[in-house]
Amino acid sequence: MPETPAPLREAAEALLDRRELIGRPLAERLVALPDDDLPELIQLAHRVRVAWMGAAVEVESIISAKTGGCPEDCTFCSQSARYTTEVVREPMLPTARLVDLARQTKALGGTEFCIVVAVRGPDERMLRAVIDAAQAIHAQVDIEVAASLGLLKPGQAERLAAAGIHRYNHNLEAGPRVFPRICTTHTFEDRVRTCRMVVDAGMELCSGGIFGMGETWEDRLDLAFVLRDLGAREIPCNFLDPRQGTPLGDTELMRPLDALRCVAVFRCIIPDSVLRYAGGREVVLRDLQAYGMLAGANGLIVGNYLTTLGRSAEVDLAMLADLGMPVATAPLTGTAGLRSIPLQSGATGTR
Ligand code: SF4
Repeated sequence: MPETPAPLREAAEALLDRRELIGRPLAERLVALPDDDLPELIQLAHRVRVAWMGAAVEVESIISAKTGGCPEDCTFCSQSARYTTEVVREPMLPTARLVDLARQTKALGGTEFCIVVAVRGPDERMLRAVIDAAQAIHAQVDIEVAASLGLLKPGQAERLAAAGIHRYNHNLEAGPRVFPRICTTHTFEDRVRTCRMVVDAGMELCSGGIFGMGETWEDRLDLAFVLRDLGAREIPCNFLDPRQGTPLGDTELMRPLDALRCVAVFRCIIPDSVLRYAGGREVVLRDLQAYGMLAGANGLIVGNYLTTLGRSAEVDLAMLADLGMPVATAPLTGTAGLRSIPLQSGATGTR
């Protein structure tokens, strides 16, 4: 029987026996393990997820409440007004429609309904519309409401929190060295600033990234450690599904095994947050999608993504049932208090 590779043994001792966070040097050794050791890494990530977060999976849906026409130039995004893509611009959905969609999410077993708008940041009219929608949903549907409205100005996060929006999504998308290559109209620091406003206002921060945009493993680790430092409670792991018409439209799909390694390594670095298995998994992982749920993911978007079609919610719910993973009946919170354990090392210095 071959011996467990040292990085996996050390990570298990830290994360499972001592319940300590791992540092950057050990994360780098996990990333460097050969593909032959990937099943063992996946197994460790699953054990870490269950030990720190439990067996349940958080099911959510996101709804594009205002689609396309965004003035920003994110090179992966088909909603940027700068690129000619198949996205059809849609104005803000009316409140009644959002309430209806929240009700449908609840019927599927979802515990969170996230209102997403394609803008640089919300103006007063947009902010008011989202606050009104959140209040109407809370009055009529038993579901948590989240929002993703881009960059926030001082005071806006507090108003969203006061309206009962429990989580705010603002993805960092990539590590600080990669970000200037994928967006020039705002900076990585702009995004980090909004993330801090969210946390300071008392909302849970949902922030993650997109893998497969030409980044290195070092860049992926940079992103993971920044997200950990920011205290992201939910981390969407998206895989680039290249959109025709965008500058990244011809990018090669990432290797499925690398996608699985991303999920597993992020789980080992951030054991106590919801790791949400998000866009691109259908095209990148194909038959291996269930493995992602066994590699440490414990959040799932069901139904469609913002501009791409996901497989049907029923198929995803059947996958969870087949895996013996219960659907959470309330948003997962993990063991955030354990964050007080001192880090071994690894912060990337963005705070
Ligand atoms: S800010 Fe958001 S919606 Fe706008 S182009 Fe960038 S990713 Fe797309």
